[in-house]
Amino acid sequence: MKINPVRGTHDLFGKDIKKFNKIISDVKDIAYQFGFNELVTPIFESTALFKKPLGEQSDVVLKEMYTFKDRNDDEITLRPEYTTPMIRAAISNGLLNNLPVKFFGTGQMFRRERPQKGRYRQFNQINFENFGSNDSFADVEIINLANLLIKKILPNKKIKLHINSLGTRENLINYKKTLSHYFNQNKNFLSSESKDKIQLNPLRILDSKNIEDKEVIDKAPVLIDFLSKENLNEYEEIKKCLNDLDITVYENTSLVRGLDYYCNTVFEFKTNEIGSQDTLIGGGRYDGLIEVLGGKDIPGVGWAGGIERMMLLMDDVQLQNQSIHLAILNQNYKSHAFKIYDFLIKNNLSVFWNYKYNLKKSLSTANEQKAKFIVIIGEDENINNNYTVKNLLNGEQKIKDLSNIMEFIK
Ligand code: AMP
Repeated sequence: MKINPVRGTHDLFGKDIKKFNKIISDVKDIAYQFGFNELVTPIFESTALFKKPLGEQSDVVLKEMYTFKDRNDDEITLRPEYTTPMIRAAISNGLLNNLPVKFFGTGQMFRRERPQKGRYRQFNQINFENFGSNDSFADVEIINLANLLIKKILPNKKIKLHINSLGTRENLINYKKTLSHYFNQNKNFLSSESKDKIQLNPLRILDSKNIEDKEVIDKAPVLIDFLSKENLNEYEEIKKCLNDLDITVYENTSLVRGLDYYCNTVFEFKTNEIGSQDTLIGGGRYDGLIEVLGGKDIPGVGWAGGIERMMLLMDDVQLQNQSIHLAILNQNYKSHAFKIYDFLIKNNLSVFWNYKYNLKKSLSTANEQKAKFIVIIGEDENINNNYTVKNLLNGEQKIKDLSNIMEFIK
């Protein structure tokens, strides 16, 4: 019986797992540098955590969530995103007492989308969240962090920061009304998909990828005209700070993001090198969301990045294999080999026993796996109680025993 992977899922191995682990390690380094602590949450949560906060008309809630009833008839959903679970966890565990608090996490998310390059049904996200501050420097800091991380993971790649301000929730409500009215007047020129969104979710029409919608969208009222003076000043300050940090910003007035909870600053890091699934990181401010989820009325700002999309752009990771290979030339020398095996392991080194008992095959395995050293255990070594050690990078070879082998290997 052959069972295939479920559509939209993938296994990680070989070069990909090296890239994946490099990203996770870069994320942790930068998180600690910026004072963010890790928060790990369960893969499934109560469905209510996502339904309303993400927006009952959002694509994620309408079409993409993996929701099921468990054996007690509890409504469960595999997490489609990480911001709401992080907030839930911060509230459940009383972590919102000394503000601001800064958390990050990495893990699998689940969305039942149509799979394609850069879009999967199970994928991995990086999340950074700052709870409790409406200082515009919190926005700047979290964007700066994203920018530095992207530079670290993808040096030499062209990635553009798109930014927009949605204004407060009240501004947004007014804007949505005006937008619905405008799209209604022009509905004959819109795609049927966009027509369906006019009443319930007109903002989503703005980032429609349908070419026939473009002309109507280009002439639509722009959100920036609905922003208060205070909002505009804050937006200007954020852009200026980013500029001072040498981060080039591209103002994108049609950037609205797909989930209902965003307000004020929204941003995305995009590339044009991986096809239509071109957003690597997306985020923004979500003042009001923490209160909706049963916490205090405190603001928040954060972002999520897709690990698989970053991997698509990433150069191969060249990691030297740290293992020391053993070439045991005959089964009879096993107990002599075992002494060095035990010695190296107890000295915290990594050792690879290949079960080949043949020099040529052992060398070829060691080279294939890019090992730096091989220890040869043949007849002479067995008689003389020593080992021949070869550095496979420069070819240097020495005879050593347990008292002096470490200096050669280190
Ligand atoms: P979103 O929560 O939709 O803004 O997603 C944040 C980031 O997660 C995106 O910018 C992508 O990099 C990544 N992402 C979202 N959906 C998927 C998916 N289905 N497959 C792979 N990566 C995804």
